Amino acid sequence: MPKYIIIGGVAGGATAAARLRRLDEHSRIIIFERGEHISYANCGLPYYIGGIIADREDLLLQTPESFRKRFNIDVRVNSEVIFIDRNKKTVEVKDTLFGKTYAESYDKLILSPGAKPIIPSVKGLCSERVFSLRDITDADKIKNFIENMNPKSAAIVGGGFIGIEMAENLKAVGLDVSIIEISDHVIPMLDNDIACDVRHHLEQHGISLYLSNRLQSITLQDNRLNIELLNGFINADMLVLATGVRPESQLAKDAGLALNEYGSIITNKQMQTSDPDIFAIGDAVEVMNFVTGHTCMMPLAGSANKQGRIAADNICGIYNEYAGTQGSTIIKVFDMVVASTGICEKTARLYNLNYDKVFLWHTGHASYFPGSRPMSIKTVFEKDSGKILGAQIAGFDGVDKRCDVLAVAIRAGMTAKDLTALELCYSPPYSSAKDPINMVGYVIDNTLTGKVKNYHWHDIKSLPRDGSVTLLDVRYVEEALLAPIEGFRNIPLDSLRGCIKNLDRTKPIYILCYSGARSYIAARILSQNGFDVYNLSGGYRLIRSLNLL
Ligand code: FAD
Repeated sequence: MPKYIIIGGVAGGATAAARLRRLDEHSRIIIFERGEHISYANCGLPYYIGGIIADREDLLLQTPESFRKRFNIDVRVNSEVIFIDRNKKTVEVKDTLFGKTYAESYDKLILSPGAKPIIPSVKGLCSERVFSLRDITDADKIKNFIENMNPKSAAIVGGGFIGIEMAENLKAVGLDVSIIEISDHVIPMLDNDIACDVRHHLEQHGISLYLSNRLQSITLQDNRLNIELLNGFINADMLVLATGVRPESQLAKDAGLALNEYGSIITNKQMQTSDPDIFAIGDAVEVMNFVTGHTCMMPLAGSANKQGRIAADNICGIYNEYAGTQGSTIIKVFDMVVASTGICEKTARLYNLNYDKVFLWHTGHASYFPGSRPMSIKTVFEKDSGKILGAQIAGFDGVDKRCDVLAVAIRAGMTAKDLTALELCYSPPYSSAKDPINMVGYVIDNTLTGKVKNYHWHDIKSLPRDGSVTLLDVRYVEEALLAPIEGFRNIPLDSLRGCIKNLDRTKPIYILCYSGARSYIAARILSQNGFDVYNLSGGYRLIRSLNLL
């Protein structure tokens, strides 16, 4: 009877164990978990702290007992594996409650030890008022502190996914919240031209943002944290570190398994490490970026689960490969939804890809049906073929399904032309007859086929204001009066045909409107009348959101 050992009993480990059992009823399976719990919902922890998930028990998806009953798996919690002896094929286990150690042999071993929070090397972090969030014990500490110490304010270091989820949830329990972020925008893994909408939304909900800033030190004064930043000081009653994670790979390193320069465990596509009897999955492993083909660390629950299944399949003789991670993520920011899949523009730039981008501003469902609100979609695509490389969306209703469709498009290697042909569900409460996904396809297709030439927000400041080009604003007169744009002459779209004779055909025309839709129509009118026209993708709305004017 084969004997399988799994180290780490949460996302990847629990999935791998259950799949192993479903494939092999007669093997012996042991999970060693250092903590008290297995298979809990760490993605739900911020919402437990905020009270949206009211019952702590709801976080515990399985218990050692339920796992034992259903899967006949020997789950040992409070059991830390402290050494792997690859020659003897044994692990040394420490019972963290009683301190005793013992050895257990294996035929195949799966490592799913996860990642650990990065703790910046800053003075003053050893305080009972400073927290990080990785597991239920961390969540309990934060919740107990809030209930017992009645803090009024919190500072969060890191404006990524966990930082923002914590900001929303600490606000929900009545705290004043500040976010300190080293990058010049929140959610640094996104491009600034999408993250700018998130920034405004956070500020509208009363979150104070300290961007392009860095935690320097912390001192305790009169039971408050005096937090020194690169630029200034703030005070708070508690501080949460959300500064990212690094792979929990010391055990693998000590066992002599191959790691990359960042400490991630290297595996092949079957999730097998440099030792054929040891597999590794989840946050601790290096993955291939599905779009670029480069290796990286992308710690996501979905990847850990898929890899768990793949490792179990291969152990049981079913050939299965992990095809790479494309980084599909989504976050709730109060009532806003922000989602992303594939690569963002900065990654495309980093790898020198031959890419282009378009912005689309579109309602989540039919604009005449109550409750429709606009979403901003940025799509990055291959310049020659129109293949979709990445998308980022910030909006409200229907963001998740649009991002998921684009995630599938990327996986399937689809082009913009393919998006125009997609038949997606439509009824006014849910979409428009031309779904935003179709619209993304149309906009890119128009760009690729030369029906429109775009310029972008980063070009706006450098456009000559010396009369050598025509700068044209086709918004309504009232819009242009309310928010005039330096150097741009206002001719509303509906008056444009009557004014063509007054425009200088020898000069290029740079055109804009609020979102890019009316200016596209204007661009078509003018280009078919012999003008050389450029349309501002994303429109005035985007330059305003970026605070460029
Ligand atoms: P984990 O689930 O972390 O499990 C690793 C386990 O291994 C730990 O319990 C640890 O105690 C144990 N362990 C480590 N070393 C040993 C040892 N030597 N012996 C025994 N046990 C050991 N991902 C998303 O995709 N979407 C989200 O919305 C999302 N939200 C998140 C919110 C929070 C607050 C956190 C912390 C994470 C979130 N994630 C999210 C990330 C997601 O939870 C991880 O990607 C996923 O849990 C990784 O699974 P894993 O099995 O690699 O590691």
